[in-house]
Amino acid sequence: MGTKKIIILGSGITGLTLAYKLLWRNNAKFEVKIFEKENFTGGLAGSFSKEGLIFDYGSHRIHPSCGDVVLGDLKNLLCYDLKLLRRNGRIHLINNFVKFPFTPKNFIFNANPVFFINCVKDFLTKFFRKKIDSEISFVDIVLNSFGPALCNSFYFPYAEKIWGLSPCELSAYQAKKRISSNSFIKIVKNFYPLSSARNKKFCFYYPRLGMGQLAQNLSAEIKKLGGSIELNRKAEKLVIDKNKINLTVRSTQNISDIKIFTADFVFSTIALPSLINIIEPKPPEKIKSASNHLRYRSMVLFYLILKTPRFTEYDAHYIPDKNIIFTRISEPKNYNLQDNETTGLCIEIPCFYNGETWNSPEHILLKTILSDFRKINLPIDHKIIKSFSKKIRYAYPLYDLSFQDNLDQTEIFLDSLDNIISLGRQGLFAHDNIHHAMQTAYKANDCLNDNIEFDKQTWVLSRNQFKNHKVQD
Ligand SMILES: Cc1cc2nc3c(=O)[nH]c(=O)nc-3n(C[C@H](O)[C@H](O)[C@H](O)COP(=O)(O)OP(=O)(O)OC[C@H]3O[C@@H](n4cnc5c(N)ncnc54)[C@H](O)[C@@H]3O)c2cc1C
Repeated sequence: MGTKKIIILGSGITGLTLAYKLLWRNNAKFEVKIFEKENFTGGLAGSFSKEGLIFDYGSHRIHPSCGDVVLGDLKNLLCYDLKLLRRNGRIHLINNFVKFPFTPKNFIFNANPVFFINCVKDFLTKFFRKKIDSEISFVDIVLNSFGPALCNSFYFPYAEKIWGLSPCELSAYQAKKRISSNSFIKIVKNFYPLSSARNKKFCFYYPRLGMGQLAQNLSAEIKKLGGSIELNRKAEKLVIDKNKINLTVRSTQNISDIKIFTADFVFSTIALPSLINIIEPKPPEKIKSASNHLRYRSMVLFYLILKTPRFTEYDAHYIPDKNIIFTRISEPKNYNLQDNETTGLCIEIPCFYNGETWNSPEHILLKTILSDFRKINLPIDHKIIKSFSKKIRYAYPLYDLSFQDNLDQTEIFLDSLDNIISLGRQGLFAHDNIHHAMQTAYKANDCLNDNIEFDKQTWVLSRNQFKNHKVQD
């Protein structure tokens, strides 16, 4: 059996985990090449440093519900650098900060009393409330589960802010993916850390040198195992020619630098519309239109470096209020415990690609951010040493009311191709976590035999299971 060439598009956690697993095999002779358009590995789960501080692309943590196999790999890859930390977040609910994840004592004493009483009233009257029969939109599911108090002050404004659509324009699927405690009973049960399993919910894993350390260590292993990672190379054309695929990549630093590589098999972790748009022969117009109608929510990440060793003791603040521009503030120093005289904040601002916020000059955003910090009673009184922003075009898949049909059509087309598989957050159009990304990579590896035959039936079954993954905050 000769060497089989495998190309992976994208060096996020999915692409890296897949390459690592493919190269780990004893008997297969695989040549594995990853192409990445950015100048770093890790994708959304990468990190960078500035002024001696390490930052992630938004608040990132590994959830203890990641499962034993993922945890085993994390421990192998990160050893003593994998830290188990206690969560210490807060959520801003009707002018008050309440600990998040919720604890009963804190919720009772710190939540707005009227809000609290209304929540309890909704809970007690749940079985007498008229149910919405058609569970089509986000509103139907969430209102049926929780009643108006929690919906109107938390779920609806937060949903609109994160996804940019009114909750009745969002699919019910969005609620099912995101909300793990779909009833008051479950919320109340979740309140009480009765067992060690439930206690885990208040902890998280985190690499000592930032989330990006996972990608860095995976990249180092891949190289040791003989794989290659080409950064600054954007996939531009995938030509399917019988059993081979010819990939054209362009350097993002020198646009006239174009190279063509041939592969027996391609795994793509790039966004579905981007993949469909580079496949040749060109997919039918109907498929291109369906995939181009899959929408993503983008994000501006605004970073502040402050002249103080610590801004607050909290690792993250969640801000559902609709009239505040950001959804979350994180202070990475409280995760990675660096010992500096300065601290940094990462402020997450959801928006649409090329929309007003996306195109806003940094000084305008900064002004709004500072005023919004004051509105939530968290004024920034320290000297701002540096402020800068980064933009993520594909932050969240957007589950509008027509996404399912568009996704089905796109997947049916891709399933008809023998030697291309699309996976990962962007490639499955899945709002997922890092551990889900790793699990899908494991499955893709399992489905490919040493002779480069892919068990598509098993893959499609697993893909349907991945869709039931619940996202953890
Ligand atoms: C703000 C935010 C916070 C999050 N917080 C958490 C958290 O706390 N815990 C958690 O478990 N998960 C979290 N997640 C989810 C987590 O980041 C993802 O599940 C995971 O990183 C997805 O990895 P991926 O490889 O599938 O996708 P990506 O990381 O998106 O990787 C895709 C890669 O493809 C590259 N690419 C795109 N187009 C091309 C092209 N044409 N050619 C070559 N390369 C290309 C991209 O540059 C990127 O590197 C968060 C996500 C966001 C947006």
